[in-house]
Amino acid sequence: MNDAFEPVITLGETSKLQDIKLENLPFGKYFSDHMLEADYEDGVWKNVVIRPYQPVSFFPALSAIHYGQAIFEGIKAFKMADGGISIFRPHENLKRFNASAERMEMPAVPDALFIEGMRRLVRVDKDWVPSFPDHSLYIRPFMFATDQFLGVRPSETYKFMIILCPSGPFFMEPQRIYVEEHFVRAVAGGVGFAKAAGNYGAAMHATAQAKKKGFDQVLWTDPYEHKYVQEIGMMNVFFRIGEKVITPDLEAGTILGGVTRNSVIALLREWGVEVEERQVSMEEITEAYDSGQLREVFGSGTAASISFIRELSYKGKSMSFDPDAFETALALRTAMTEIKEGRVPDHHGWMLPV
Ligand SMILES: *Cc1c(COP(=O)(O)O)cnc(C)c1O
Repeated sequence: MNDAFEPVITLGETSKLQDIKLENLPFGKYFSDHMLEADYEDGVWKNVVIRPYQPVSFFPALSAIHYGQAIFEGIKAFKMADGGISIFRPHENLKRFNASAERMEMPAVPDALFIEGMRRLVRVDKDWVPSFPDHSLYIRPFMFATDQFLGVRPSETYKFMIILCPSGPFFMEPQRIYVEEHFVRAVAGGVGFAKAAGNYGAAMHATAQAKKKGFDQVLWTDPYEHKYVQEIGMMNVFFRIGEKVITPDLEAGTILGGVTRNSVIALLREWGVEVEERQVSMEEITEAYDSGQLREVFGSGTAASISFIRELSYKGKSMSFDPDAFETALALRTAMTEIKEGRVPDHHGWMLPV
């Protein structure tokens, strides 16, 4: 590791593991014993430390809270079949993190801090990686503006942190999805492609309204005509129409390009399945449904891997699916799990040992 980013490590005296069993923990609720922290000041990252998980205190003028310069990532580490621990494609998350940072006028985080810091932290808390099937250690890197100043301008100081949550299995029930035609998530030229905190705050009202109507999530559509499909909640969306698999392309910058999405496309192409990345309209989806060609609808994301969709509600019409008959989605879910848990050879070089 680059010496400048070598963390100063302070270990806690006791471990919370004495009181927590790592089986069947709900997502995002329990945190490991340690966290990584670094500060950006005078144009450089410094003060890299790993210390016990604890509150961080700030004055009320903290710029991130007022103007939203805050970004994050979601990554998973797995206990491998050979007993080791590996992280799934973290360099892809680093690329996306720095793309988010650039769009939000925040500094880039170097490989030696993001990747090596994460490896070091996971090694410190290695006993927190659950070894049950479909379990993992969720890694949450994030960065936020720390100037204590109410002027609206990019902050000059930032904090980068990594925290860890043991989680899983994240078996989601097949989902009921409401196709959103009033609220919008992202526009061309906006921040849809970035994992920027504000995107999630801005999505909560629409999602809450859909939940009141009995749905699990919304499927976002384009902001101009509500015609083209974008993505679902925190997942990219795939449609199997006939023998082809279709997913919206990333050209407009309105969709968060998932690492899972990218992996799904790679696997499907290796299997000889034709994948089209292009605009998909709700009209096309409805027609494919009516003609019996729309066989599967599923979402992809780090948290749930592949999640099956059992209903799409569009303009008052309900399209329903039988997830038990989803061959492609099931094959993908199985293949992804086998790769992540090291039960098959890692041909792609997707797993980074810690
Ligand atoms: C994180 C996220 C995804 C999924 O990305 P992965 O890298 O596969 O986890 C999809 N959409 C949105 C809006 C997201 O925030």
